[in-house]
Amino acid sequence: MFIQRFGALCVATTLAIAMSTKSQAQVTAALPDVACKFDSARLQFEGAPLEQAKCLLRPVFKYGHIGSPLPQLPAPLETLVGTAAMQVTKDRVRAFVTSEGVNPSELGGDLNTALSRAHSNDPNAPLARYFVIHDTSSCVQSGPPSGGCGPATVFPQDADKSTRRWNQPETWRNFKDAHLFITRDGQLIAPQGRTFSVPWRATKREAMIGEPSRGLFLHIENVQPRLSDSNAARPNDATAPVPGFTEIQLRRLAMVYVSASLRAGTWLIPAYHAALDAGLGDGHDDPQNFDLTAWAGQICAVIKGAGGSCQ
Ligand SMILES: [Zn+2]
Repeated sequence: MFIQRFGALCVATTLAIAMSTKSQAQVTAALPDVACKFDSARLQFEGAPLEQAKCLLRPVFKYGHIGSPLPQLPAPLETLVGTAAMQVTKDRVRAFVTSEGVNPSELGGDLNTALSRAHSNDPNAPLARYFVIHDTSSCVQSGPPSGGCGPATVFPQDADKSTRRWNQPETWRNFKDAHLFITRDGQLIAPQGRTFSVPWRATKREAMIGEPSRGLFLHIENVQPRLSDSNAARPNDATAPVPGFTEIQLRRLAMVYVSASLRAGTWLIPAYHAALDAGLGDGHDDPQNFDLTAWAGQICAVIKGAGGSCQ
């Protein structure tokens, strides 16, 4: 599937498109698009949480190709992921995000409510462990019925403004995918009123695992405009802006991550959608151009803003 018209999410692309240009084929030939191994009995990927994160945060390239596991995560993720050293309290985080003009309950639900559990909220199943980062792959210009974006070749200068349809809450309010959307201008939208208490699935990996996965993953969509890569043979949505996300988006995403981790009582394992689905074929390509170091810096800023220490 390589369709992408405005409104569809996290588009999948085909290897056929990737191979349609020689240079792309050469670039991708050496990349290890292999899966991180999932242990269905334990409902987690193999390895310690930090090791899992290094696999699930592998760089995502055009057409859904994935790089190698990271040798190290940027601070503070390297020391926090999987630990219960929360650094900050719910009250302090609540006060800090409020001071930045954010309603704490918009960060995936109230801080005092429980996260979802696997097996569709079975009380004996594990709490949500994975914080899945997506982009919406929103075509700047609609393309042909066969799929892909239109012929526009540049991103509009007002792409991050509230006047753009992809930054308007009503665009996402009724989407059936994901727990939360974050627009380019930092608005937080709960599609169909969902919160992180609601067990929900949004990836092929979860479909493959089956019902036990429902509630194990939290899904956050970050609005990103896309253009068709004119080097490919057919219309597509492969070209993303650089950097892929705005500073306010990363700030909000950091607030969401800190809040969700506090609810879990342990720092969640971040994951890119494309890395999560690696190895399943016809994979998705999101998020593109996600600056992990910049996001980690925003996590630090939130921790410090809430009175914690961050190194
Ligand atoms: Zn996605």
